Amino acid sequence: RQQESQNLYQLTEKAAEFFRAQLKDHKIAARAITYLKNRGLSGAVAKEFGIGLAPPGWDNLLNQLGTTSEKAEQLELAGLAIRRTDSDGNPGKNEPGKRHHYDRFRNRIMFPIRDQRGRTIAFGGRVLGDEKPKYLNSPETPIFHKGKELYGLWEARQANRELKRLIVVEGYMDVVALAQFGIRCAVATLGTACGEDHIQLAFRHTQELVFCFDGDQAGRTAARRALEAALPHMQDGRSLRFLLLPEGEDPDTLVRQIGGERFDQLIDEQGRPLEDFLFDLLGEGINIQTMDGRARLSKAAAPLLDLLPAGVYRQLMFQQLARRTGLEQDMLEEIIAAEKART
Ligand code: ATP
Ligand code: MN
Ligand code: MN
Ligand code: MN
Repeated sequence: RQQESQNLYQLTEKAAEFFRAQLKDHKIAARAITYLKNRGLSGAVAKEFGIGLAPPGWDNLLNQLGTTSEKAEQLELAGLAIRRTDSDGNPGKNEPGKRHHYDRFRNRIMFPIRDQRGRTIAFGGRVLGDEKPKYLNSPETPIFHKGKELYGLWEARQANRELKRLIVVEGYMDVVALAQFGIRCAVATLGTACGEDHIQLAFRHTQELVFCFDGDQAGRTAARRALEAALPHMQDGRSLRFLLLPEGEDPDTLVRQIGGERFDQLIDEQGRPLEDFLFDLLGEGINIQTMDGRARLSKAAAPLLDLLPAGVYRQLMFQQLARRTGLEQDMLEEIIAAEKART
């Protein structure tokens, strides 16, 4: 197993080198470079993130790294090649001299995903135009578990001796664009919701997280889910804020408009602390002036606050809830217990 993983690390690294070389040499490289330049990326930042190009065609990588059937199967295991199926959907038989795989990534800008030791473990690939799907990610492999990795974390650790904070964004381009404007502490979840493993990983490297998701419905949903995932990990001393972006913007488009300094300032001035964000969210559609509204707020808030670990922070949050609802804290404890018993 260990040997198998070693081989996979070597293979994904070789693939990353191949994609980088294509961004220099391939005949469509000029188009890819123009695309990246149009999105405001410098060669230096592209290099730092190891960005490459998967050329068009079904077997560029296979011809490079998968020349025997054994090697092709390795590429399949690494998530870089896909086994052909016959018309009935059965896997193709191994006939000598015939290719049984094709390249997963074709005609895409390639973002290598690195683990905490800087080893390339997977890729995200973006089309150069409007084709669908816009992004394609490596599947789960023995060395890549997307729920447990944060894109850009290794690069952020390389760029900072100490991480004052980490900004959690949705996309590869958000991470890279922020770096382009001098904000070298952004990380992205990999096309999945931000879960508890992501939060734990991030808090292992800093005490302050800022969630900065897109100003669209998907981004708002992501923020809610991230909130729930984060609550169990809010130990004393940790802080969490939400920077909500204007409708239609994401960190990439915004930082290109206002620049890095202003973006940092925006986080400091407008990042909503966890408690504000949580109570705003819970208070939506509730009139806290009425008794019914206050009862509904406490019922809605109690199970969420109950996710908080024991500590000063938890106490303070319950105090907040008590203040907002006018209820005593032991009354709130009773409500929690009742809600728990109900579900
Ligand atoms: P860009 O700025 O390059 O157009 P984006 O990052 O702003 O892309 P969003 O539509 O906001 O794209 O999606 C956020 C993130 O979700 C993407 O960066 C990508 O990681 C993931 N994602 C989006 N579309 C897909 C898809 N079709 N398949 C897998 N992951 C996707
Ligand atoms: Mn979006
Ligand atoms: Mn986006
Ligand atoms: Mn974007």
